[in-house]
Amino acid sequence: MENIRKLVTRPWVIMEICGGQTHAIMSGGLDQLLPGEIELVHGPGCPVCVTALEQVDQAIEIASKPDVIFTSYGDMLRVPGSSMDLMTVRAEGGDVRTVYSPLDAVKLATQNPEKQVVFFGIGFETTAPANAMSVMHAQNLKLENFSVLVSQVRVPPAMEMLLMSPHNRVQGFLAAGHVCSVMGYWEYVPISRKFQIPIVVTGFELVDILIGIQLAITQLEKGQACVENGYERWVSLEGNLSAQENIKKVYENCDKVWRGIGMIPNSGWRLRPEYAQFDALKRFQVDHIVSNESKLCIAGEILQGIKKPIQCSAFGKQCTPQSPLGATMVSSEGACAAYYKYAQHEDNRFHEQE
Ligand code: SF4
Repeated sequence: MENIRKLVTRPWVIMEICGGQTHAIMSGGLDQLLPGEIELVHGPGCPVCVTALEQVDQAIEIASKPDVIFTSYGDMLRVPGSSMDLMTVRAEGGDVRTVYSPLDAVKLATQNPEKQVVFFGIGFETTAPANAMSVMHAQNLKLENFSVLVSQVRVPPAMEMLLMSPHNRVQGFLAAGHVCSVMGYWEYVPISRKFQIPIVVTGFELVDILIGIQLAITQLEKGQACVENGYERWVSLEGNLSAQENIKKVYENCDKVWRGIGMIPNSGWRLRPEYAQFDALKRFQVDHIVSNESKLCIAGEILQGIKKPIQCSAFGKQCTPQSPLGATMVSSEGACAAYYKYAQHEDNRFHEQE
């Protein structure tokens, strides 16, 4: 911290991409301890938060069907759709199950041949290899009752979208170490050059985040802009090549809607045509659904670093972890959940409530 204090001479805005980093920052009180010149803003790297509302509604419609076992990571169950969440579907008799791996869903399909088993395949580059493997495994087993509702998103196009926005305030990025452990950081080099912005691959411990901030501030103060690896114990330039191979085999790039943000060109993956039989959207024909976001929720602006959770009028009032209006209040990586859990000192509305 002292090293950072000595380095900084003027205000800088740095975005940590990943919601896991946001939670580490808030739980350690880093936002309070850093020199006042450094402002941390929170990025869109929370997979649950950016899963499009339409896809949550599609999941709810599929999960409500009588012959379906719908499987998902636990965090998705309480994410609000337009009118309900998956937990409500389960309470009303739907067979909605939490799994810890997509391979658990494949196993369920082999054990329940009379049912359709659907896996909600959300996430960034980190979940894509395992999700891809589940599809390959289902194909090898010739399963006809397994499919995936795919919502895979990619970080680099989102970074470019943020940097091209007229509202952008970000001057340096802390890239998500776990994403880079899969993909490497070669994709960030052209972004750093094009936008002349420092990008530092950063881990999740407080010491990793301090290293990332120090490297970014050093570049900014010197007027430099390059990609640096502050997480060398897990990340290499090229990343995990066999995981990337599996992703390429199963997925192709596509445009993708991010919840609260909108469509980002080329920012998603969908199943290649040779795996179309495992596409839940095609199997269940649910792409007609029209969705309605809460008018109070400003999560899209929070995920772009434009606003902070405590600037939302519903924060801690109409919207709490027990009664969330938006996904960022639900997810263990969501910025609103992090502020609610750790930042009571910034807003005494909480004390009034409790
Ligand atoms: S506090 Fe709730 S309503 Fe406000 S932005 Fe966060 S999730 Fe949306």
